[in-house]
Amino acid sequence: MAVQPSEDRRPALSAADPELAALVRAEERLQADTLRLIPSENYVSAAVLEASGTVLQNKYSEGYPGRRYYEGQQVIDQVETLAAERAEALFRMDHANVQPYSGSPANLAVYLAFLRPGDTVLGMSLPMGGHLTHGWGVSATGTWFRGVRYGVRRDTGRVDLDEVRDLARAERPKVIFCGGTAVPRVIDFAGFAEIARETGAVLVADVAHIAGLIAGGAHPSPAPYADVVSTTTHKTLRGPRGAMLLTTAEHARAIDRAVFPGLQGGPHNQTTAAIAVALKEAAAPEFAGYAHQVVANARALGEELAARGFDLVSGGTDNHLLLIDLTGKDVPGKTAAKALDRAGIVVNHNAVPYDTRKPFDPSGIRIGTPALTSRGVPAAAMGTVARWIDRVVEAARTGDEDTVSEVRAEVKVMMDACPAPGLPLV
Ligand SMILES: *Cc1c(COP(=O)(O)O)cnc(C)c1O
Repeated sequence: MAVQPSEDRRPALSAADPELAALVRAEERLQADTLRLIPSENYVSAAVLEASGTVLQNKYSEGYPGRRYYEGQQVIDQVETLAAERAEALFRMDHANVQPYSGSPANLAVYLAFLRPGDTVLGMSLPMGGHLTHGWGVSATGTWFRGVRYGVRRDTGRVDLDEVRDLARAERPKVIFCGGTAVPRVIDFAGFAEIARETGAVLVADVAHIAGLIAGGAHPSPAPYADVVSTTTHKTLRGPRGAMLLTTAEHARAIDRAVFPGLQGGPHNQTTAAIAVALKEAAAPEFAGYAHQVVANARALGEELAARGFDLVSGGTDNHLLLIDLTGKDVPGKTAAKALDRAGIVVNHNAVPYDTRKPFDPSGIRIGTPALTSRGVPAAAMGTVARWIDRVVEAARTGDEDTVSEVRAEVKVMMDACPAPGLPLV
């Protein structure tokens, strides 16, 4: 139900701290008025938002349901059990740990469970689309462990399982990560599992970006293949900021002990509650429609952009994201991203495979459709979105701020027509 603009949804906050309350309202307006194309971002439902702002916040509950270090867990145990059981059912894994504070700590728990310092981990290279926590140098995971990296092929922009197999045979990693942050193609979980089995490695599917697509049946599931599934809950899954580790029965105890007491103290119970709500929403039939629409929109947007001469890494997408190499457009990624931001189109600059530019000013941008799909921007509008991106990237090259302002106004009109979940009509 729409909240009236005049209604203050946070009267206590407004009274106690008007300065902070005004900042929250400003962020609401920004999220309402802009076309958010960052593929790791989304809009949570009003129900998820409400669940994450509850008195569950006030409770300490180190341990696991039935095995806590503090009393008074009559309700919290039920909340955590509900979240874990929903996760296990939705992702069809034996065991779920819903306590990791976020995706990076969840992955660190994987290292604690299966590796000793100095042991080898095989993951996708960061500039090829991997994540920092898959053994990249500047991360603790690449400092305390020996990170070995696979990439994508220069000609296809896709992972080459022959390269992965050769590396795994030669380097004998204890853990292999598949998945990443800028991977526009289906992850071949079965192929990775075969390599992990042959070389005696634990296979971790990091599905942080695509968990919602998996839940909705729009991406194959890692369930029959991965020993551990690591995921954030706030990307395509549309939950609160948090994470989960799902495991086979064999690895449940090792992962639980690594999360607590290995790495964390008390879980964030208000987040656990909101994860439970998001998992219920993701199990509903409408969510499958959402997940498939995210992919359909990304495909349509990719085709429209390709038709305007944009160079898509791997030639397109199977999922929610597009990685665009702007070298041919003669505009650096950061320059394009900043101009798009001024036009109300929010993206991030991103390295592309074999990038010749520096990581802080790379050649590409990364865009995705989860958030615009959550607000019901119709598929037919993808041509308009592609035209805006084209006009603004060209305007960034020529320094044409008038065009940027024109697009900003047009974006606002479309956003007004497609109100975002969880936001008042500000
Ligand atoms: C987002 C992401 C993470 C980290 O999640 P945070 O919550 O930002 O710590 C880990 N792995 C992958 C593949 C991701 O995309």
